[in-house]
Amino acid sequence: MTSDRVTVLTGGSRGIGAATARLWATSATPSDVLLLTYRSRAEDAARVVADVVDAGGRAEAVRCDVADPAEVAGVFERADALGVLVALVNNAATLEQQADFEDLDHERWRRVFATNVLGVAEACRHAVRRMSAAHGGRGGAVVNVSSKAAQLGSPHEYVDYAASKAALETLTRGLALEVAPHGVRVNGVRPGIIDTDMHADGGEPGRAARLGPGQPMGRAGTAEEVAAAILWLLSPAASFTTGAFVDVSGGR
Ligand code: NAP
Repeated sequence: MTSDRVTVLTGGSRGIGAATARLWATSATPSDVLLLTYRSRAEDAARVVADVVDAGGRAEAVRCDVADPAEVAGVFERADALGVLVALVNNAATLEQQADFEDLDHERWRRVFATNVLGVAEACRHAVRRMSAAHGGRGGAVVNVSSKAAQLGSPHEYVDYAASKAALETLTRGLALEVAPHGVRVNGVRPGIIDTDMHADGGEPGRAARLGPGQPMGRAGTAEEVAAAILWLLSPAASFTTGAFVDVSGGR
């Protein structure tokens, strides 16, 4: 193991994850290395890695379905080979087609929770075992990406997704309190309507354009605006912040 500082970022192939990787590169030191994951878009992930390298950073992409605990374990084994884990961003999430609650079947709930809750819990577990001073670790920071949906419930769209984000928020808070004495900060961001391709997965590619003008700030947010909050929470500037959520939702 080297003494290089490793940041693991899930879902780095597009949207908010890709923006976070690119912004990370702008403040990375030569001993920092970014290990980003993707599920299916290998070419997009490779392009993000190339952008990080072009900006002077070091990065590597690894395929991982966060719903598969063995694949999540593999990511952290790779992180160990690269250096010492200092940060984790749980950004990957899945969103299925807009539907009424009565049409959300059991298998769909399973899929959504497997990725958005169990995947996050598993990654947090691996990270904390490495970072916690209780296990001889040097501390670190975790940021979990929630959604305003956790508070709004997403009726007639995806109550399953909203409920998964509420669970993510509770696990974030509980974990933060457990590891606060051991040098590990655990926080979250809560994006509102952000202009990414995720809305197409929900069946409405134009959702951000439709809903943006109705937001308090009169527009949808950008992936870069969410990335800025994530990187602030990871940074020493947020050294006394844990168990907290930053709303990046234009006042919504
Ligand atoms: P996105 O453009 O759909 O990107 C999702 C990323 O997650 C992709 O890199 C994808 O990988 C990866 N991913 C999805 N399922 C995965 C799985 N099972 N295992 C591993 N990786 C997986 O989404 P986004 O809009 O950037 O959203 C990023 C985060 O912000 C999510 O947590 C989302 O819930 C949250 N958020 C977004 C909005 C919004 O309006 N966009 C609002 C609130 C919260 P591949 O591309 O390789 O499949």
